[in-house]
Amino acid sequence: MGDRWAWVQQFKIQPSRRPTAATVLHCSGVTLYNHVFLVLPASVAQWAWRPPVDLPVQAPLLMELIAGVIGNLLLFDFQYFIWHLLHHRIRWLYVTFHAIHHNYSAPFALATQCLSGWELVTVGFWTTLNPVMLQSHFLTTWAFMVLHVYVSIEDHCGYDFPWSTNRLVPFGIYGGSSGHDMHHQKPNTNFAPHFSHWDKIFGTHADVSASSNRK
Ligand SMILES: [Zn+2]
Ligand SMILES: [Zn+2]
Repeated sequence: MGDRWAWVQQFKIQPSRRPTAATVLHCSGVTLYNHVFLVLPASVAQWAWRPPVDLPVQAPLLMELIAGVIGNLLLFDFQYFIWHLLHHRIRWLYVTFHAIHHNYSAPFALATQCLSGWELVTVGFWTTLNPVMLQSHFLTTWAFMVLHVYVSIEDHCGYDFPWSTNRLVPFGIYGGSSGHDMHHQKPNTNFAPHFSHWDKIFGTHADVSASSNRK
């Protein structure tokens, strides 16, 4: 809608770029394929083989929930940073598994799940396993999963809104949509999906304001 809604368009990170019907169709096709052949079987397998669990009677304390969600996000951020760096630096890994996600240098929400099966299985594995490793409460786990889906789509939405997570979190510690949009423009920068500290430590951080079209 951005093109037809000037108020929204002012927040577009690459205002001259928009997804076409063909790109939307391609991403929808890949997403549908991944969900039918990977997500659905994995969900059925989990439902069938996971031992029965008793939901705790007590909800977690609010601070416990917030700390758990942030802890899960930080752990995933580190795991994906390493995976992502390797899949850019080792050419075979890039071409075989990650190149499909870089079909689009101007991401849009549907590009979030435009992933190879291996990448989807890896991120799904960590997202599922991390709350178990961190012994998170079930409510914390579900809150993390919902937020994780939200921030992953936000990373790819192509807009840097005043309410985007990177604007709500202070001191530039969260890269978010503007940081990850930059990764799609300059694929050797900003490997961490959410926070910015790993890229700063490894010298791969790109300052978003430097080349963003939005002034
Ligand atoms: Zn991406
Ligand atoms: Zn990448």
